Amino acid sequence: MGSKSDPMVYVFGAGPAGLAAAHAAFNLGSSVQVFEASAVPGGLSRSIEVLGGVADIGPHVIGSDYARVNEILSEVMGRRQESFQLNTTMLWKGHDFSYPPKPHEILTKLGIFKTLQIGVSMAVSRLKLRSISIENHQEQSRKQYGMVLSSECIEPYLERLWGVPSSEICADWKPGRFIRSSIMNWVRTALKSSGDVHVSHPTHGMGDFYIQFASKLEEVGCEIWYESKVQRLSHDHERVTAIEFVDDDGTEQVVIDPSAQVVSTLPLNLLMRLLDPEPPAELSCLLSKIKFRSTILGFVIADPDSAPKQHIRYINDPQFKISRITNFNRWTSGMGILDNSKHLLCCEMWVDPESCWEMDDDELVGIMIRDLDAMGISGACDSLSKILRVPNTHPIITNEARAAVNQVHEYLNSFSNLLLSGRAGAFEYADQDRVLDLSIQRTIEFLKG
Ligand SMILES: Cc1cc2nc3c(=O)[nH]c(=O)nc-3n(C[C@H](O)[C@H](O)[C@H](O)COP(=O)(O)OP(=O)(O)OC[C@H]3O[C@@H](n4cnc5c(N)ncnc54)[C@H](O)[C@@H]3O)c2cc1C
Repeated sequence: MGSKSDPMVYVFGAGPAGLAAAHAAFNLGSSVQVFEASAVPGGLSRSIEVLGGVADIGPHVIGSDYARVNEILSEVMGRRQESFQLNTTMLWKGHDFSYPPKPHEILTKLGIFKTLQIGVSMAVSRLKLRSISIENHQEQSRKQYGMVLSSECIEPYLERLWGVPSSEICADWKPGRFIRSSIMNWVRTALKSSGDVHVSHPTHGMGDFYIQFASKLEEVGCEIWYESKVQRLSHDHERVTAIEFVDDDGTEQVVIDPSAQVVSTLPLNLLMRLLDPEPPAELSCLLSKIKFRSTILGFVIADPDSAPKQHIRYINDPQFKISRITNFNRWTSGMGILDNSKHLLCCEMWVDPESCWEMDDDELVGIMIRDLDAMGISGACDSLSKILRVPNTHPIITNEARAAVNQVHEYLNSFSNLLLSGRAGAFEYADQDRVLDLSIQRTIEFLKG
């Protein structure tokens, strides 16, 4: 347990990465102080009360691939979680499919000709692309799934997500994504009737886990300063020397002891802008290449009979602006509209900050309700809808951005007491379970030196 004489670790952000770093630092015997800009922990993984129900900020599944994350989850949540088979589909060519679509689904929904076309193109692509070195996500996907399935299904969807052609996206944008896939795996799944995944979810939403996690950290002595926004980081080119933050009492400064360490989970481009003195001009120029997509979330109330039966339904159809719908009434007993008289849906639109970010709420609600109507989902109306704009949700990991990030990382890694962590903090496409696991691992390695 940390005491006043233990080395201090300052953490920026109380999202998954920041809390995981605080947890790891505390377990190594450090004193910990966390600065969090908002009033609650959880960051993008927080939950909210909206339209009389409980929802996460879009779907937030926590997987079971990471043993130490599972351990923390069960230690923190105990019985406050519920298990279910996660039902996720993708609307493509007018039918709901698994993602990626399975052979038996293509056969029954699109017919024998399309199935053969996809199968042959998969085999041909495998042979043709066998020996080429993969430079981008498009080549990776075509090698994996063949030209037909990739260009008609996978690429359009991922281009919707990022807003750039898949030929610009890094082949390994999501580590581990393609490793387990092969033609044999794809065909083998034809024998299975369901691709549903078994998950455990906090009963009152993902954010409840982070609220409980943060309070357990506070109970043992970690200090978390909410509504304390880091706004300047002084340095002497070798280490961070002072932190300036703004809270209710105005602007305050903490001078950093030579033995203290800093873990930042702030978006990488924001962190660079907070440095004082400013980074070298050639690095500041690179920041325009480090971009994030933003998400517009539309929460709406729908009639239970017509609401999606899935927990998550991806929409891969250019006629719709909505790209994903989450029905929180299908999740746990503590989410959605509690009496089930209506269902609470979250519709997502992925946008560049400069595009429909400025559109007014009524216009956005109108677009979403038109889409829902066309999908046969009834009951949604303007007065029972709420728009939430969330910036910096998805790092756009193009080859160009990766090259820029590498240079920025090299510069920031030269500060001996600074560790970068988190999805936007390290600029990597990681889901929250991987974010938690990586942040623990990196913090341990960093503090052990
Ligand atoms: C729509 C959507 C759906 C998603 N679905 C899933 C899913 O199904 N499964 C999954 O595992 N992951 C999912 N994710 C990803 C998941 O939300 C992130 O991986 C995770 O929250 C990243 O954690 P983080 O701590 O790195 O960053 P964040 O969650 O962004 O936390 C960063 C924290 O830093 C704080 N901060 C920012 N600036 C300052 C400042 N100047 N001073 C102090 N504090 C500051 C923020 O307030 C925030 O609390 C989804 C994300 C979105 C947006």
